[in-house]
Amino acid sequence: MKVIETKDITYEYPDGTKALEKVNFDVEEGKIVALLGPNGAGKSTLFLHFNGILRPSIGTIVIDGEPVNYNKKDLMRIRQKVGIVFQNPDDQLFAPTVLEDVAFGPMNMGLSKEEVEDRVKEALIRVGMDGFEKKPPHHLSGGQKKRVAIAGILAMKPKIMVLDEPTSGLDPKGASQILRLLYKLNKEGITIVISTHDVDLVPLYASKVYIISDGKIIKEGTAPEVFEDVKTIRGANLRLPRIAHLMEILEKEDKLPFDKPYPLTIGGARKRILKEFED
Ligand code: ADP
Repeated sequence: MKVIETKDITYEYPDGTKALEKVNFDVEEGKIVALLGPNGAGKSTLFLHFNGILRPSIGTIVIDGEPVNYNKKDLMRIRQKVGIVFQNPDDQLFAPTVLEDVAFGPMNMGLSKEEVEDRVKEALIRVGMDGFEKKPPHHLSGGQKKRVAIAGILAMKPKIMVLDEPTSGLDPKGASQILRLLYKLNKEGITIVISTHDVDLVPLYASKVYIISDGKIIKEGTAPEVFEDVKTIRGANLRLPRIAHLMEILEKEDKLPFDKPYPLTIGGARKRILKEFED
């Protein structure tokens, strides 16, 4: 079942910038879907449509089987189903302590004090930030802030979690911790949508990849399908994952017998190389 479905949506900002053009973007329940594109391609604009912050100039959005109508009741309902984690945690975290921050969402849902406390505790444990309740969010590292922002969304028990560039600004360890956390949450049943320009991490996690360029979806498929189209990838100002690039060079420059599709991960490359040595 599709939990997010956009039908030919076009969006123009009030100043006339056309940020999205006839975008069809579907998310199947239980998957990890990645939206890959360079800066300014329209990733954030598209994501802001998923919980009704922006409304398409043309086209419709269906969330969990229901077309969004933009009345107050509808918006409340979809904001509970779809949690958005913004790119910059400082746009999301504003309370004086971690505890108050994570409690903010569930408190606004009108839950009892006990229920809010339980949810906050559980959310902080799930993201590995229990013990930080009394800390002011601005004293945390980038990766820790991101995890608290994720906890704030988790505490509202969303069905779908949308994360705008969840690894941007993090060091490699922080980035990989966040992706592993998202993978775990996905295994626990949450549908995940991420935007990124990080081609090296995407293939490891996403079951479906969309490429956006200049407000248009120019390619969709599994990671191997998408990265096989090297011309489109480079045309969108993206590059191949480093491993695929290495295999491409070994094949083209050194005439080693690595056919396309090139492996996208170290694990995949290792298998391919060992196979060549066996043969
Ligand atoms: P991405 O998230 O892929 O970096 P954005 O969705 O932020 O891309 O931007 C898509 C396009 O819309 C860009 O050309 C950007 O300059 C423009 N844009 C973004 N926000 C606004 C805004 N508030 N007003 C006018 N144009 C905007």
